[in-house]
Amino acid sequence: WEDHFLPTPLRLDDKIRAQKIEARISKMVLCGATLRRVADVFEHEIEAGLQERPSSLQMENTYVPELPDGTEEGSFLALDLGGTNFRVLFLELRSGQLVQEKVKQYHISDALRLGPGDDLFNFLADCVQDFICAEGMENDTFSLGFTFSFPMKQHSISSGELITWTKSFKCGGLEGVDVAALLQQCLRARNLDVTVRVLLNDTTGTLVAGAHADPAVGIGVILGTGSNGCYMERAERVQHWERPHQTVHDVCVDVEWGAFGDNGCLNFLRTEFDDEVDARSLLVASFTFEKYIGGKYLGEILTSVLSALARDKLFPAAPRPSFLQTAHVSLFEEENCAGEVSRTLAALHDACGADVTLSSADALVAQHVAHVISNRAAQLVSVCISTLLRRMDRPYVGVAVDGSVYKHHPRIAHLMDKYITLLAPDHPFSLRGAEDGSGKGSALTAAIAARIAVRES
Ligand code: BGC
Ligand code: MG
Repeated sequence: WEDHFLPTPLRLDDKIRAQKIEARISKMVLCGATLRRVADVFEHEIEAGLQERPSSLQMENTYVPELPDGTEEGSFLALDLGGTNFRVLFLELRSGQLVQEKVKQYHISDALRLGPGDDLFNFLADCVQDFICAEGMENDTFSLGFTFSFPMKQHSISSGELITWTKSFKCGGLEGVDVAALLQQCLRARNLDVTVRVLLNDTTGTLVAGAHADPAVGIGVILGTGSNGCYMERAERVQHWERPHQTVHDVCVDVEWGAFGDNGCLNFLRTEFDDEVDARSLLVASFTFEKYIGGKYLGEILTSVLSALARDKLFPAAPRPSFLQTAHVSLFEEENCAGEVSRTLAALHDACGADVTLSSADALVAQHVAHVISNRAAQLVSVCISTLLRRMDRPYVGVAVDGSVYKHHPRIAHLMDKYITLLAPDHPFSLRGAEDGSGKGSALTAAIAARIAVRES
């Protein structure tokens, strides 16, 4: 069992160099027993979070009490905020099927991502106005789903406060503010007849979109710039309710696993490389688990490890800071699988300087480091998913996954499949790529909310 967790060994003609490198990065290699320990800590933090005891996991009640049943109807606007692009979508659903979709992307500048929160929200409302005008829909009335991919304290399906920014956002003055209400205010100031009906996380959108394709889907995961998951939890196990819930059987809970261990409970995992990546990040000492997994960070870890190897004379030179991205990790992995080095060498030349002499062995070293980093990321996200599978204890659970790392990394999906199976052997599951949870999932959730409102009135 243990052997299955090991990454492929580094094979170099120079065996001593290979050994020294393996030793230098050995803390990044997690054994099965360590992963079980992580799973135990995760389970413990889940319980504490659900019961509102101190925990690094938010375990947020999203107030989404049911999944699509194929009756979803209507036209909706959806907003997707979380990465460097902001999207406005118009979606039309008939009998649960998406029959029309219009999308426009807007770039969010650094100034907006790092400036005052009011500027950001005024910009979002300007984009909605631009979209509506461009489509000639100025006189229409809309319900809107707002996918806001940050941790929130939700008061209802349509309201919630930002807890903290993550990834590459750090706007002033928005923590503790109801982001749905603020958006509504900015829309109203532009005389737009748009009502914010649901406020949701991207994982919730992914779960809902996934469940629309396969009713057995009960977990939603994002493996992109950041990482997080949500799942259907029994309502009685959730302590925090701000409204009557007697008729609710299950409810979607947003775990916010990016912050797992921020209270110190996972310090046994941290390496000097993680400390360095964290210290250079926009939000230091926050969302430290995400920094093991998220696409925003995998390239940074690679840089940190190769720099340490360069200091120890085990690698020719340190890569320029922030040059290597997650796309390079994917590229190195891809060439590693194919037994090639040419594109790895070209990238390393760009990263380390054209004057640096690099051999094929150096390319193999970089590929190996990329592999170890990818393997650890896959293992940690698999610990989370397998723990949720065990908690849910259903005969079969579909896991809807979206995000750039999941989509573009050549072997992450395969590794996750393998590790989840090893960690939750008696819990059948399948990973399913879910397309556009933030858009389609948002519209579907708005339609679910409308259906519930009708039923309850
Ligand atoms: C946020 C989550 C989000 C995840 C993926 C994290 O940084 O805290 O709310 O689901 O990124 O986008
Ligand atoms: Mg997204």
